[in-house]
Amino acid sequence: MACVYWIHLAEHTNIITQGYIGFSSTTAKERWQHHKYDSKKSRKRSYPLYRALRKHGEKIIVSTLLVGSSEYCLEIEAQLRDKPNTGWNLAVGGGATMLGCTHSADTRNKISRRITGRKLSESHKAKMRAIGRTPEWLASLAKARQRSPSVPSAETRRKMAASQRGRKLAAETKEKIRQKALGHKRNVGRPVSERARELIRQKATGRRHTEATKLKLSRDRIGISVSPETLQKMRQAKRAPLTCPHCQKTGKAGGMKRHHMDHCKFKDQAQCPVSQKLSTDSWKPPPTLPAATEVSPRK
Ligand SMILES: [Zn+2]
Repeated sequence: MACVYWIHLAEHTNIITQGYIGFSSTTAKERWQHHKYDSKKSRKRSYPLYRALRKHGEKIIVSTLLVGSSEYCLEIEAQLRDKPNTGWNLAVGGGATMLGCTHSADTRNKISRRITGRKLSESHKAKMRAIGRTPEWLASLAKARQRSPSVPSAETRRKMAASQRGRKLAAETKEKIRQKALGHKRNVGRPVSERARELIRQKATGRRHTEATKLKLSRDRIGISVSPETLQKMRQAKRAPLTCPHCQKTGKAGGMKRHHMDHCKFKDQAQCPVSQKLSTDSWKPPPTLPAATEVSPRK
């Protein structure tokens, strides 16, 4: 996507005759950075735009007028600047001399030689660090670009994932994502590979609802009527025998779930003391065994 932008002052009212109209194959913001950089080159210092930049400084406004295809943007730029020396423009619009071109290997080498080993000022370095452009980052970027122009390496992707993991989103952002996801149909019916299925299963195994969620779920089910067959199945499930993995006691599922399984008093013991006592004569109660008074018989 390309754009046409207007560099101007607040008091400017006529885009045809005032300020600077430009074309960018990326964004106005990016082009503006280049303008600021170019304004310091001695060859270009006397350009009207750069004189204006020095004169007005912070008062300069950069506005994007339109975003569209390069052809369309260049056409509009040509219409807005159809005569030379209009506003802060020197040339007529519509010409993007480098559009779609790449530098020759020779030129690339020249540019590379010019910037290789370049010493940056301390303030420049500080600015680069402030936006995350540390020397290590730049070096890894250069390496990645050499290897492949677009796909980051597995290592880089792992780092990218790690840097995003645990990131806290602003409530506003979360709400935006929520609104966008509401009622979405993007992944409905999407086939999931066996491997992905297994990974999902592993991640979900042992997952527990929080107490708050349980409360919500139970509240949502209040008043929902159940068919007689389902009711029958539920009763049967409650009466089915179940063995507690912590103390090996067997009983009806309803009571077992209540007093054993996850609620078993021996849950945190390495092994069931009852079965140990049966198997070895030299058994002594482990020091962590709860005292008789601490064990609540009813819950
Ligand atoms: Zn038990």
